Formats: sequence, C-alpha cells, structure tokens
Amino acid sequence: MADKFDVIVIGAGPGGYVAAIRSAQLGLKTACVEKWQDTKGNVAHGGTCLNVGCIPSKALLEASHKFIEAKDDFDDLGISTGDVSMDVKKMMARKDKIVKNLTGGISGLFKANGVTALDGTGKVVGDKQVEVTDFDGKTATYDADSIVVAAGSVPVEIPPTPMTEGLIVDSTGALEFEETPKRLGVIGAGVIGLELGSVWNRLGSEVTVLEAMDSFLPMVDGALAKDAHKLLKKQGMDIKLGAKVTGSEVKGKEVVVTYEDADGKKEITFDKLIVCVGRRPYTKGVIADGVDVELDQRGFITVDDECRTNVPGVYAIGDCVRGPMLAHKASEEGVMVADIIAGHKAEMNYETIPSVIYTFPEVAWVGMTEQDAKDKGIEVKTGSFPFAANGRAMANNATDGSAKIIADAETDRILGLHIVGQHAGEMIAQGVIAMEFGSSAEDLALTCYAHPTMSEAVHEAALAVEGHAIHMANRKKRK
Ligand code: FAD
Ligand code: NAD
Repeated sequence: MADKFDVIVIGAGPGGYVAAIRSAQLGLKTACVEKWQDTKGNVAHGGTCLNVGCIPSKALLEASHKFIEAKDDFDDLGISTGDVSMDVKKMMARKDKIVKNLTGGISGLFKANGVTALDGTGKVVGDKQVEVTDFDGKTATYDADSIVVAAGSVPVEIPPTPMTEGLIVDSTGALEFEETPKRLGVIGAGVIGLELGSVWNRLGSEVTVLEAMDSFLPMVDGALAKDAHKLLKKQGMDIKLGAKVTGSEVKGKEVVVTYEDADGKKEITFDKLIVCVGRRPYTKGVIADGVDVELDQRGFITVDDECRTNVPGVYAIGDCVRGPMLAHKASEEGVMVADIIAGHKAEMNYETIPSVIYTFPEVAWVGMTEQDAKDKGIEVKTGSFPFAANGRAMANNATDGSAKIIADAETDRILGLHIVGQHAGEMIAQGVIAMEFGSSAEDLALTCYAHPTMSEAVHEAALAVEGHAIHMANRKKRK
C-alpha cells in the first residue's frame, strides 16, 4: 500500500486542478492523478481546456482576427500594410507554445501548493481507494478520505460522419490543420462550430455550417441571436439551419456529405469536415466494476447540488456531471467541493454562470432570455442599446451588436444580460456580479460608468429598461 491522502482528485482539467490546489491550500494532504501525455510522453496538466479547448482555440481566434483586421480593416484607420498573409505553421507554433507554458504552469502550481502529482490513469477501486496505473504500466493503490472525480468529456461522434484521419475531424483535429482548407464543412452551429468555423473562414476557407435545428443559438436572446447570425453570414459563413446530415463518403482527398433540409436531399463536397455536435461525459475506466457510483442515462455521474455522488466520500465535478460544459463552471465546482471536504460551508449559484462565444463580435450571456422568462410566466421589462450609438465602439471600429437587459417587471431585479459585441465576454461580468448581488436594473442605471467604454452600452441598456437611455430616442418621459 502506497501513501494515504485526505483527498485524491482524478483528472487535472480546470475542474480537477482547481479542486486539488484549493484542497491543498485548505491544509488537506492532496494528490491529483492525470493521464494526459504530450507528444514527448510527459504528463500534460490542464485537461481539455488547456490542451485542446479554451486556450488553443482562443489563440487561433486571436491570430485569425488580427489577420482580418490587418487585411480588411487597417486601411480604414489610415494604416497601409501592403499584402497581408498568414503563416499557418507559425500561428500553430505560437498556439502550441502558449499551451505548453500553461500546462507546465499547472505542474508548477501543484509543486508550489504541495499537491502530489500522480502521473497515470486513476480508477476508484473501492471504498476510499484509488488505483493509479503509471505511464510504464505499474500499478499502485492509494487510500483517500475523499475522492473527487473530474474526468471531463470527449467529443460526440455521429454514425453518418465517422472520424477519418486528416479529413473528417473533431475539434482537436480542427486545431491542428497545417494549411487552410479551401472548402470546409462544419457539422453543428454550436459554440465550437462557430468559433473554429470563424478561425478558418477568416483565413480564407469557404465555410459551410450544417445545423440540424431550425433555430440559431436558442440559448441566446432571440433578437441578439438573429443579429449574430446575420453578422456571421456577412463574414462569409454559410450557416444552413434545419440541415440534417445523413451520410458521408470519402473520395480521395475530398468528403462528400449528404444532408436533408426543408427542400429535400442535398450533397456537398468539402476538403475537410469538422464534426462538433456536442461533447459527452468521459467516465470510461474511472470507476471500477463493483463500485456503485451512479450514472444517469446519458452517462453523466449523478451528483447533488454539492457535487456528492451516491457513494459517501466520492464527489464528481465539471464536464462529467450535469450542467453546462464550461471551464469556469468546472473550476467553481472544484472550489466548492474542496471547501466542503475541508468542512466549510460552500454552494454554487448555477443561475449566474456566464457563457461566451468568442466569435467577432463576441456573443455573451448570463441568466434568462426574454423568452425563458415568458415561458416561466414571469412578466419582464427589457432595455436594449446598440453599439452603433456608443462612442467607444465607433472609435474601435466595432459598432456591430447590442446589449440587452431583461428585468422582472414587478421587482426590477435583473434576470439576464445578453450582449453581442466586441469584448462582450469581458462585459458580461457586470451582469454576473449584478445578478449575484440581486441588483435591480435601476442599480446599474444609477452606476457611474467610465467614458468612453463599450460597457456604457450596458449602462444605457439599464437606463433603457425605463425608457431613459441618454443616447437614444426616449420612449418615456421621466416622472
Ligand atoms: P477536462 O478539461 O476534460 O479534464 C479532464 C481531465 O481528466 C483530462 O485531463 C483527462 O485526461 C483526465 N482524466 C480522465 N480520466 C482520467 C483517469 N481515469 N485518470 C487520470 N486522468 C483522467 N469552456 C469554456 O469555459 N470556455 C471556452 O472558451 C471553451 N472553449 C473550448 C474549446 C474547445 C475546442 C473545446 C473542446 C472545449 C472548450 N471549452 C470551453 C470547454 C472546456 O474545455 C471544458 O468545459 C472544461 O475543460 C471541463 O473541465 P473538466 O476539468 O471538467 O474536464
Ligand atoms: P454544442 O452543444 O454547443 O453545439 C452542437 C450543435 O450541433 C448544436 O447546435 C446541435 O443542434 C448541433 N447538432 C447536433 N447533432 C447534429 C447533427 N447530427 N447534425 C447537425 N447538427 C447537429 O456543442 P459543441 O459546439 O460541440 O461544443 C461542446 C461543448 O464545449 C459545449 O457544451 C460548450 O459549452 C463547450 N465549449 C465552450 C466554448 C466556450 O465557452 N466559448 C467553446 C467551445 C466549446
């Protein structure tokens, strides 16, 4: 028998590594097991987010956005660049360097905080026991008073489009293209489809997105989702809604995809195809046979509001449990379970988890849409303000989009903030904080915002809830 720990965390993604660091900070003897290996066979901490998710995708989004600015927008600002070109290999090398720095940074944080890194595959093998098989195949068993499973998620595959090396790929493959594909197909107009579709669209691919649903971004307020759809189409992304993919055939270096929409059966040929139709919890091999941790019908580990499984002392967090598959949600759950294990009171507010799609402009939201509120029978009042009327947006060459606040008609309490616009992902924190503190729209309306900032659009949207936006034709007279 090897060491005994207070806490063993399985998985070092944003859920697991945060749970481990917080546990150690709280004085608990903590280990974190991780099986992800880099190309050299060394452990790579950070999970999907750092290795093949949030961070590499944002590195490519930033590079491709700067490319478009230099190519199409600088002239407007009086800047001459001559011909602008993109060196895809260099862009990828920069992305890889950022990933390496960050994953190495987590290993450093483990050392600094006294977390024992156990490199290998972890498995809950019994009451308060974790078995770890290291990269050489050697196995050791560790005792732990508490176990946190943070095993994450993997892409969903669909039968019509089986993965085909270099041709039909998932999000990880789409972060590795060595050159810009001429004709790029994307299945799924969700977060990954729009972000990675944007990257390659900006770099010159003809991008066609096939989305099975008839609606576009149903989780975003209707008016703003419509606007985002229009803006992405204007950038050249051909987003086909109600398009159900029925099959694919690889012909040499091309993929022929068949799909059905309202007009019947269709066929379209691509040089590369990205399948991004969602992710599923990854729990394979994490729980040994005979250990009775309950999974739901979709394979998520069943947990209560405090991320406890049905087995005492075993917790589960992040993408492998219910709730949005987001890095910050996983991390907050990591903090919460560490606090609970250490004997502190902790809880999470799932109503105020923000979401951001890092397209240009960004799409960000927290809380209800106007429709969500109506569906729940809540009477609402709303205030919107377009960036076209915001001075900083004009100066920034970023006048697309708007901010919209949804407030309870009776109490004025903010129920949601939805933004399409440059830096929407930064601005959304205002809505999160306001909602966390139970603010009213009037609280934001009475707050002094710095000028000139994009955030003033949120201020004006709050003023607009009562029809009193300053830089817009007013609908109501002030009483
Ligand atoms: P993961 O990050 O998946 O980590 C789980 C870890 O557990 C992995 O390292 C895995 O190797 C390890 N593991 C699994 N089983 C075992 C085992 N038996 N033993 C040892 N280790 C094991 N979210 C955002 O919030 N913002 C974004 O901008 C964003 N962008 C994304 C872009 C892409 C392309 C993708 C694919 C995802 C993106 N996400 C984003 C989602 C985000 O990556 C996930 O929500 C987040 O990583 C979940 O964290 P986690 O810790 O639950 O799981
Ligand atoms: P998603 O759930 O966001 O979108 C999948 C889309 O595919 C949906 O619109 C769905 O209707 C569509 N779809 C499903 N089956 C289909 C089919 N057979 N044919 C055509 N369309 C189909 O999933 P995703 O984009 O794969 O992302 C996975 C997860 O990763 C998300 O839950 C997201 O939270 C997370 N993520 C977050 C970020 C971010 O926060 N910026 C970025 C990337 C990924």
